[in-house]
Amino acid sequence: MTRVIMFGLPGAGKGTQSALLAKSLDVPHVSTGDLFRANIGESTPLGQEAKKYLDAGQLVPSSVTNAMVKDRLSQPDARKGYILDGYPRTVDQAEALSDILAELGEKIDVVLSFVLPEEVVVERMLARGRADDTEEIIKGRLQIHKNETEPLLDFYRDLVVSIDAVGSVEEVQERALAALDK
Ligand code: ADP
Repeated sequence: MTRVIMFGLPGAGKGTQSALLAKSLDVPHVSTGDLFRANIGESTPLGQEAKKYLDAGQLVPSSVTNAMVKDRLSQPDARKGYILDGYPRTVDQAEALSDILAELGEKIDVVLSFVLPEEVVVERMLARGRADDTEEIIKGRLQIHKNETEPLLDFYRDLVVSIDAVGSVEEVQERALAALDK
């Protein structure tokens, strides 16, 4: 299984686990955060579009994000698979992804859902010590996730495999790899 969506609360460890899985499976780690930075850095048309919103302190519309993902998943190195990290974030994006994959003639193999208690997430985020990681802001992000992202579990219900995300990075990685082997 090499076409993977990473699902879980912000701070669940998706980015950390994605990088390791991408190495093990030898497929690209497609993170929307990285895609924004790359497109803006290279000043692509989509990057310029995204920058307009970011500079104005607004959310980048899904149409721009979807187009960046389409672009990335169409590259030759993505034919062997990909780890999608941070995307899709809403059911609308999941529907857009379905269209992208239909065009490519591909299907998602599995949605790895990293499960852990909210308290552990809050602890991990506070441990990062970033200025934008106050308890209040973290709780706000968790609420947005509940409202907008959690419905994906139903959208992908036939593909979801739950992974216990409490434990060391190595332990969680072992569980993720074991789930992909099945
Ligand atoms: P996400 O991509 O799901 O938001 P990250 O991979 O960015 O999560 O991880 C959030 C924070 O938790 C980071 O500071 C990361 O280093 C830390 N972290 C990730 N996995 C673990 C783990 N198994 N145990 C403790 N801390 C972890």
